[in-house]
Amino acid sequence: MTRLLVVEDDPAIGSELVNALTGQGYIARLAATGQRAIEDAREVAPDLILLDLGLPDIDGVDLCRRLRSELPQALIVVLTARSREFEVVVALDAGADDYLTKPFRLTELMARLRAHLRRHQAMPEDRMVAVGALRLDVAARRAFVSETELELRPKEFDLLTALARRAGEMVSREQLMDEVWDTNWFGPTKTLDVHVSALRRKLAEHGEDPLRIATLRGRGYRYEVG
Ligand code: CA
Repeated sequence: MTRLLVVEDDPAIGSELVNALTGQGYIARLAATGQRAIEDAREVAPDLILLDLGLPDIDGVDLCRRLRSELPQALIVVLTARSREFEVVVALDAGADDYLTKPFRLTELMARLRAHLRRHQAMPEDRMVAVGALRLDVAARRAFVSETELELRPKEFDLLTALARRAGEMVSREQLMDEVWDTNWFGPTKTLDVHVSALRRKLAEHGEDPLRIATLRGRGYRYEVG
């Protein structure tokens, strides 16, 4: 069973979300404060956390960072007010996989969550991908540079796999959004750029050239072979 944790201090929104998720067959629990979210996350180890960034007791971005370090495998989708969209990039940097701005349509949220969970839980193709010093064990969802393992978040792994599988070729922004996030993105694709920055940083930390991931401005990215 898929376990979800809804972190939302507005009781009306919180119970609407939990009811909708339960109606879809998920196990969903509501935490109305940041402190409660940390305790619940430890107790139930959710597959996905829906995190409202505006909480009464803990800064939402700090909480996101904390949940990410405690649950590296969980998907985190943050909810933020449209007037506070500036928080999105910081939250993605702090470990969120995706975001939605309030107000959102429940149907859109459900579609987004289903897509994330399907991708996350799908049996990956059983094969290895190797480019230069990078080696991906797609089945085990592990990434290595030389002999050391990279600590990647779920979407970072998916993105690196999408690029490395087509090493030497340009992969368009649209293709990456579609493949990794399962969405046709019409707005700014901050999520993609933030994840690329994180991958470059992690590659560099392990002695690989961050420019292995080349930017083709406005068009896409390419994982360099040479
Ligand atoms: Ca709130």
